[in-house]
Amino acid sequence: MDGLKDAALLETRAFIGGEWRETGETLVVEDPGRAEPLAEVASADSEHATEAIDAAEAALPEWQATTADQRCAILHELDRLMGEHQEDLARILTREHGKPLDQSRGEIRYAASFVKWFAEEGRRSYGDTIPSANPDQRLVVFRQGVGITAGITPWNFPCAMITRKLAPALAAGCTFALKPAQSTPLSALALAVLCERAGVPKGVVSVIPGSSARAISEPWLEDGRVRKLSFTGSTEIGKKLAEGSAGTLKRLSLELGGNAPFLVFDDADIDEAVDGLMVAKFRNAGQSCVAANRVLVQRSVHDEFVEKLRARIEADVHPGYGLDEGSTLGPLIDEAAVSKVQRLLGQATDAGAEIVLGGDVHEAGPRFFAPTVVTDVTPKMTISSEEIFGPVVSVMTFDDESEAIRMANDTPFGLASYFYARDLGRVWRVSEGLEYGMVGVNTGLVSNAAAPFGGIKESGQGREGSRYGLEDWTELKYVAMGGVARKS
Ligand code: NAP
Repeated sequence: MDGLKDAALLETRAFIGGEWRETGETLVVEDPGRAEPLAEVASADSEHATEAIDAAEAALPEWQATTADQRCAILHELDRLMGEHQEDLARILTREHGKPLDQSRGEIRYAASFVKWFAEEGRRSYGDTIPSANPDQRLVVFRQGVGITAGITPWNFPCAMITRKLAPALAAGCTFALKPAQSTPLSALALAVLCERAGVPKGVVSVIPGSSARAISEPWLEDGRVRKLSFTGSTEIGKKLAEGSAGTLKRLSLELGGNAPFLVFDDADIDEAVDGLMVAKFRNAGQSCVAANRVLVQRSVHDEFVEKLRARIEADVHPGYGLDEGSTLGPLIDEAAVSKVQRLLGQATDAGAEIVLGGDVHEAGPRFFAPTVVTDVTPKMTISSEEIFGPVVSVMTFDDESEAIRMANDTPFGLASYFYARDLGRVWRVSEGLEYGMVGVNTGLVSNAAAPFGGIKESGQGREGSRYGLEDWTELKYVAMGGVARKS
C-alpha cells in the first residue's frame, strides 16, 4: 500500500497469543472505492480460535494481578500511538472501507477517544460498603473483570467498533480475542500492532481474521472458559449468537441494528434540522446503525425542509474515491449493498414514493450510490422497516405529536432516535415517549466516549462507552466479613 509512513502497520498475518502467524489459508480484502483486490490476509479457522482462548487463559492470572494503574498506563500509551499514527491508520481504513480520508481520520480520533476514556475510567471502578444488620459482620461489594472475553465486530467502523470493546476489556483486567469483519481486517491488525508496541502482554489480545465467521465464533460460543461475548452487527446474527451462547450462559453484549427515526416538528429551526440530518444520514455514506433511516416531518414544514435539504445535499455531498481531494461521500461496501438500496427504492417508488434527488448508482463507480431524497414514503413500505444502509433520505409526514411518536416507535428496533423542536414541554414529552436507548434532541450526533451507547428492544443489550461501558466487563462480587464483634 502506497503512502504509509510506517509500513509495519500494514500487517496481513493473524495475531494469536502474541505471535504473528500465517494460517495456511488467505482471504482477499477489496478496495471498495475501486472495486478491486487490495490485500490478502491470513484466514483463521476453529483451531486458531481455540488457540487464542488457550493463550488468553494462560495470560489471564498475570494480567488480572496487574493494578488498574498499570493497565491504564498501557491504554494511555495505546492512545498516544494511535494519535502518532493517525494518518497511516486513516489511510489503511479508507483503502479497505472506502470512506473519505477525512472521515477516516475522524474515526481514528473517535476510536482513540474510547481508549483514553477507559484508561481514565479504569482507575475508578469503585465498590460499596453496605451497613450490616449483624454487628459481627461487615459487607463489602467490589467489581472484578469477567475473565476471558471475545468480540466480533462489523465492517462499517473498522477501528472504532473494536476500541469500544478492547479498551474496557483491558481496563477491567480481561483478556480479549477479536474476530474483525472479513472485509475490513487490516484496521484491526494495525491496532494489534499498536497494542503490542504499547506493551500489552502476550496472549492478552488476539486478533484473528477469517473467511468463515462461524468457524471462529462456534468454538468461542461452546467454550465455557469464554465468560463474555461482545458482538456488534446485525440483529439476525445477534440472535443466533444469543442462542449459541445459551449452553454456557455467557455474558452477552449485543450492539445490533437500528431503524432510527428523525423527527422534525413545526417549531424546529429548519436550518439546524437540515444540518443535523446531514450528519445523521451522510456520515459513512449512511452505513451506520445510528443513521437516520426514517425522516418524519410535520406536514406544515415538509416542503420547506425538503427544499432546503435538497439544496444542501447538492452543495455539500460529493461522491468520490476516498483518497481524492474533495470527496465527501464514499462507496457502499459491496455490490450486495448497492442492490439492496436499489431494491428498497424500487419497492418504494412502485408503491407511490417520489424520488426528488438522485435515485441510482453514481458515475464515481459501481459501488457509489448517488445522494438520494425520496418523499411520500409510508410506514408500510419496506424502506421504512429495513435498514437502508446507504445515502438515501426517506421522508414521511405526520400531523401531530402523538402521531409522530407512534410512527417513530412502530418498529422492533430501539437504538438511536433524533428530533428537532424548541418547545420545552414538547422536548420532554417526546424524549420520554421515544422507545430508544439514545435520543438526540436538536443534534444529529449522539455518540461519544463519555455517553452510554446502546439499544433496547431488538437493537440489543448492554452499553459501550461511559462508566456503564466499563461495568459491562466486570462482575459484581459481595464479601461478607464475619468475626468482627468482640467476644468478651
Ligand atoms: P453482520 O453480518 O451481522 O456481521 C457482523 C460481524 O459478525 C462480522 O464480523 C461477521 O463476520 C460476523 N458474523 C457473520 N455471520 C456470523 C455468524 N453466523 N456467527 C458469528 N459471527 C458472524 O453485520 P454487518 O453487515 O457486518 O454490519 C452491519 C450491521 O451491524 C447493521 O445491522 C448495523 O446496524 C449493525 N451495527 C450496529 C452497531 C451498534 O452499535 N448497535 C454498530 C455498527 C453496526 P464476516 O465479516 O466474516 O461476515
